[in-house]
Amino acid sequence: MPQIKPAYERVLLKLSGESLLGKLPYGIDLETTRSIVKEIKEIHDLNVQIAIMIGGGNIFRGIRGTEAGMDRASADYMGLLATIINGIALQDALEQAGIVTRHISAIEVKAVAEPFIKRRVIRHLEKRRIVIFSAGIGSPYFTTDTASALRALEIGAQVILKATKVDGVYSADPLIDKTARKFPSIKYLDVIKKGLKIMDTTAISLCKDNALPIVIFNLKKRGNIKKAVLGHKVGTRIY
Ligand code: UDP
Repeated sequence: MPQIKPAYERVLLKLSGESLLGKLPYGIDLETTRSIVKEIKEIHDLNVQIAIMIGGGNIFRGIRGTEAGMDRASADYMGLLATIINGIALQDALEQAGIVTRHISAIEVKAVAEPFIKRRVIRHLEKRRIVIFSAGIGSPYFTTDTASALRALEIGAQVILKATKVDGVYSADPLIDKTARKFPSIKYLDVIKKGLKIMDTTAISLCKDNALPIVIFNLKKRGNIKKAVLGHKVGTRIY
């Protein structure tokens, strides 16, 4: 039995595609992927049930295609496929670390992933398998943030842990505005009212309506995933 008691039994970890970039301008840095997996293993060892929603921004975002004149739905489907590629890379890295996983895609790709069946996913989690969700909710015009909120609710996760490249929610973008200040916690409605661009409004609204807390934290600081899972002060809590 682990000695440290986590604050949550079941979590949904949102990893952006960018988190797999490392120092690359594009694609997947396997070394970076492995170091993220090391941190995920630490919380897995605490017996926390983990589902991961993987993004695709390191490969393709729908918006990039539409800005260049593509049809939005076609561009978004390319983004969805990018998340599946990331899902395969993450699954491989987790399995090489000795963790049993299941890859669940919201669009059918039988050769590499299972379909989403709620009870089956919950069974995987109960058996300590890490579940990787890819392809968002399977429809264009959405983001993997909204997909995280939806799946977290469906599987009964107690929190969304959103790993980002900033330390939490700020009054402005801290990478651009040096006077930006960080909120230790903030209400859902204030994130929407202040127009803070940390997560899309659909995702925040879904969490608000169902009282699902979100913890936003910096993935680049080692140990932050574990701190978030233990309920220690890290990043910003949206409640
Ligand atoms: N996407 C989509 N529907 C979804 C989730 C994602 O169409 O339910 C597409 C969208 O084009 C998005 C891309 O997939 O830009 C990659 O997802 P996202 O931008 O959320 O990835 P992240 O920013 O987390 O890397």
